[in-house]
Amino acid sequence: MPTTRICKIFTFDAAHQLIGHSGKCANLHGHTYTLEVVVSGEPIGEENPSDEGFVMDFAKLKAVVKTEVTDILDHAFISRGNEPALEVLRASGSKVAVLGFRTTAENLARYIVYRLKTAGLPVESVKLWETQTAWAQVYAAEVPDDGPFYQEVGGCDSE
Ligand SMILES: [Zn+2]
Repeated sequence: MPTTRICKIFTFDAAHQLIGHSGKCANLHGHTYTLEVVVSGEPIGEENPSDEGFVMDFAKLKAVVKTEVTDILDHAFISRGNEPALEVLRASGSKVAVLGFRTTAENLARYIVYRLKTAGLPVESVKLWETQTAWAQVYAAEVPDDGPFYQEVGGCDSE
């Protein structure tokens, strides 16, 4: 059976601030991100009639992405940890996700694919749309087992 790819699309809202960037994204602002998760594998055979033909049950895919990604990032302030607003938001009980890296689309895509891979999902790639016209894509095979490389610089799409 040939390798087949399936994709499920998610959205989440998050706020961030890219400290030190020369553009508009140095300001605290938000995005409605669209996340495409591609899973690959051989479709399940007749030994499992309930799931026959599936690469993976979409409901299972959705459950993993919810636990590993959207429960953490949705409606959160996604933080590197160096933003002045962080402590105020924490103190007020607002949802924050301190990620420890600069929250560019590139870094977030690496983080997401690594979390999904580590959770055992047969993820092939993720594509993270920061705006309707800009995305970053990362292939799981290109992310080291001990974690991704995160860039220290970079901005976001403000067009
Ligand atoms: Zn941004």
